[in-house]
Formats: sequence, structure tokens, C-alpha cells
Amino acid sequence: MDLHPFVRDIQDFPEPGVVFKDITPMFNDPKALNAAFEGLLDLVNGKPVDKVVGMESRGFFFAPMLANKLGAGFVPVRKKGKLPYTTLSETYDLEYGTDVLEIHTDAIQKGEKVLIHDDVLATGGTASAVCRLVEKLGGEVVQCNFLIILDFLNGKDKLKGQEIVSLLNY
Ligand code: 5GP
Repeated sequence: MDLHPFVRDIQDFPEPGVVFKDITPMFNDPKALNAAFEGLLDLVNGKPVDKVVGMESRGFFFAPMLANKLGAGFVPVRKKGKLPYTTLSETYDLEYGTDVLEIHTDAIQKGEKVLIHDDVLATGGTASAVCRLVEKLGGEVVQCNFLIILDFLNGKDKLKGQEIVSLLNY
């Protein structure tokens, strides 16, 4: 199933000059939702996975579903100050300034195989910070798994050495 018709461009969101890929039409359509999920699962290609890490907030849509199907646990990575237990933090660059992502310190055990999932890879700042968090906890990143990669932003350059896969590329 071609999923391109279920991604719409929103001009000037969240700020002027940005063209935002809106994935809500994909979630709105039962067949597209299922095709996207099965497609993401196929990309994992049978790799053993202990934990699936999803990034706030659109990474939370598919990451727990993937974890459940893969027989893995789900780990949320959230913006600063949102997680209640002891956290490890990582700062990453935004277009203007920096932001902080956090993970619970007991969420990943040393040697666990970790799949990282998010909806979109743009500049790569978010995903590379998540890789650092996972690796600081002793986890092994087995794949960075996205619905969409915006190739023109070269986010892959920030994820050198990682396996990077996606369902759609622009
Ligand atoms: P990056 O850190 O790679 O520049 O940005 C990736 C993060 O921003 C992801 O968590 C993603 O949800 C969000 N993001 C950036 N651009 C878009 C976009 O065009 N569409 C959607 N849905 N999310 C985006």
C-alpha cells in the first residue's frame, strides 16, 4: 500500500518557512494505519530486540505497538522535567538554541538490544541524543527506525555507525 497519500504537507508549521509533514491522516485511516505498522515491523527484519525506545511525542504512537509485537519492553524518552523517576539527560541542538531529552536510569540494562523509533528523522538532533542516552545506559542500538526520513536535512550524518531505516523518504 502506498502511504504517501496519507502524509500531508502543512506550510508554515510550526513556524513560518517550515513545511511540516503531518502524519495524522495515516492514523485516521484503518488500512493505512495497519500498513504503516506492518511496514515498520518488516523493517526490523527479525532482529532480536529487548527494548523499543520512542521519543515524545509522535514516537509514542508506534513504539509501544512495535514493542508489544516484538516481545520487547517500551521505554519513553521525554522532554526535560516530564519523567517522574531518576533520569539521565542529554542536550541536543535545535535550529536556534538547545533542548534536553531524558530517560529513566533503570529503563535499559547493560547489553540490552534497543530499537529506536520516531515518526520523522529531520536534522537528526533528536535521534542522535536518544542514541547517546541508550548507549550511556549500556544498551546496544540495533536500529533507528522511522516512518519518514527528510533526506534533504541530512539527519543520517548525525547517526554515523547506526543502521537507519524508514518507510518513506522525501
Ligand atoms: P530532528 O531532531 O531530527 O531535527 O527532528 C526530529 C523530531 O522533530 C522528531 O521527534 C519529529 O517528531 C519532529 N519533526 C521534525 N520535523 C517534522 C515534520 O515535518 N513532521 C513531523 N511529524 N515531525 C517532525
